[in-house]
Amino acid sequence: MANFYCKWCGIKHSSVSSLTSNSCSRNPEGKKHELYEGSEKAQYTCKCCGIKHSSISSLTSNSCSKSPTKKHQPAL
Ligand SMILES: [Zn+2]
Ligand SMILES: [Zn+2]
Repeated sequence: MANFYCKWCGIKHSSVSSLTSNSCSRNPEGKKHELYEGSEKAQYTCKCCGIKHSSISSLTSNSCSKSPTKKHQPAL
């Protein structure tokens, strides 16, 4: 079964519809989780500063000095 991740908080759901119908506390542009459209990786890179973390949730929970949202954002 595929896993779908939120690009703002890294939460994992088994379907896109359940992911995007639940609210996200970290989405700066809306209230719902938003699909991370990249593939599943061993390491996720911040598209703003290039730092790497082993999960989207740890990447997006840390602050980023170069990001407009002040948090790291996963590159695709
Ligand atoms: Zn989310
Ligand atoms: Zn960053």
